[in-house]
Amino acid sequence: MKIIPLSEGSFTVDQTKKFIPYNPEKGMLQERPKGSLLVEIQPFLIVTTQDIILLDTGLGFSQDGVLQLYNNLAKHGISSSDVTKVIMSHLHRDHAGGLSVADPFSGLHYLAFPQADHYIQSKELDYALSGLSSSYDSSKLSFLANHDKVHLLDDRGDIDNYIFFELSGGHSPFHQVIKIVEGDQILFFGGDEAPQLQQMKTKFIAKYDFDGKRAMELRQQWWDIGIAEAWTFLFYHDIMVPYFTMKGESNE
Ligand SMILES: [Zn+2]
Repeated sequence: MKIIPLSEGSFTVDQTKKFIPYNPEKGMLQERPKGSLLVEIQPFLIVTTQDIILLDTGLGFSQDGVLQLYNNLAKHGISSSDVTKVIMSHLHRDHAGGLSVADPFSGLHYLAFPQADHYIQSKELDYALSGLSSSYDSSKLSFLANHDKVHLLDDRGDIDNYIFFELSGGHSPFHQVIKIVEGDQILFFGGDEAPQLQQMKTKFIAKYDFDGKRAMELRQQWWDIGIAEAWTFLFYHDIMVPYFTMKGESNE
């Protein structure tokens, strides 16, 4: 499988959960509000023998009126209509912003990847539309509820016998993680529960998680299984290491 990180760039984010583009030449780290994190926003494109899969969709930034994701894909000779599957770890703004594009006249939202089958945990969408959390932009998500290209998933299962999803519920109540298995390659996308390499190695309870303790325990489980099964981890928020392949028991 081919892994193509589609970075939207580096951002600082603080308690207000606003993502501000970070320019290392201009902004000194110290000038950021206290408690700020520096993160990458990095959806992934996975090319398998049968699919072109997009894992999460970023903030949905545009460049010259074109979705930045489209420009990123074009650099690899791929158009938005080539994407066959879009799989969402969860629907927070920084992951679901590029799911849709709005018609400039009507303001109506349409799928940004219209040919693709979309896979979302059913309860995650319900929760996003409930208005209970400000981490979601329900106005951009409501059209997904009754869309023939949207497949609402329950708990755990598989897609086409090689993509495995499982409700994990650490970062958001109905967050899911994704495993893609082809040949001897195992890709693991833990979304915001395995966002950076460094967080996998340290016992770290994130304040921004719905259930920080659970997320930490899950990270440790995945790390152990990852070592045993030589997983490749895909890190959505890692500035330095987009993905990392475990070499088996003896290494690392
Ligand atoms: Zn999130």
